[in-house]
Amino acid sequence: MDRKIVAWAALTVVALLVTGCSQPADADAPPPAALSSKPAGSPTSPADAKPSTAPDTAAAYRKWGLKPFAAPPAPPKVKPVKRTPGGPVPVISDIPTNEKIVFITIDDGAEKDPAFVRMMKDLKIPVTMFLTDSAIRTDYAYFEPLAGLGNGVANHTLTHPNLRTLGADAQRREICGQQTKLKERFGKTPRLFRPPYGNWNEATRAAVGQCGAEAIVLWRESMQIKNMQYQRGDKKLHPGDIVLAHFRGPAELKGTTMTQMTANMLRHIQEQGFTVARLEDYV
Ligand SMILES: [Zn+2]
Repeated sequence: MDRKIVAWAALTVVALLVTGCSQPADADAPPPAALSSKPAGSPTSPADAKPSTAPDTAAAYRKWGLKPFAAPPAPPKVKPVKRTPGGPVPVISDIPTNEKIVFITIDDGAEKDPAFVRMMKDLKIPVTMFLTDSAIRTDYAYFEPLAGLGNGVANHTLTHPNLRTLGADAQRREICGQQTKLKERFGKTPRLFRPPYGNWNEATRAAVGQCGAEAIVLWRESMQIKNMQYQRGDKKLHPGDIVLAHFRGPAELKGTTMTQMTANMLRHIQEQGFTVARLEDYV
């Protein structure tokens, strides 16, 4: 048999094991990095006893008109993006890697479609949610099952201002204020911050560090309704790209639902031979 196929098959087996544990039902489960470092074939805990099977996964994806993704590689032992102690927080639009992986981020939180929660439960694709208080304050609870699946909760300010029009104190209030709300609601201080419209300056960078976050996360591609907008001229995904999408529904998407938009995005990623990895494993 072709060596590549054997390697792929082995990776798939490991990946299935990892997938089974990397979407903890409760937020206290150990992080996927710790689980995936366990050698294949080592004893499993009772929680791991029911392995996910490929036919189940295929059926879950088929429900949404999709094919399963290739499993992402094991998370790196050392995160490639880190804050230098005492230095400013890093500002990133992609992650340095040679793997054909991208990272999905979903912003604001205006649309709260229950079908999207079902979709994420079925697909088990990691996403990072950059949440704005003014968009979600009426229904923080919507995001709890999404966070419970292991998806990242990150900071996108209290009121979605253009931070470059605000002084340092006002920026700090926007950023630290949302850190506090998200910590209260989800139990963890967010580690990642995204400035609305991608607009930031050195005062933003200082405030993000002072408010206890560790990186400013921008993006390379922006998902629209059917199409992806690319920053680079070659209009292709590159390894490590961060993809931006929004919690938007038919009113903003010309009748397209959040789950249809998400399926369109996932097909773009798949068609280019990429799979989706967890941003928090890399930064
Ligand atoms: Zn936004």
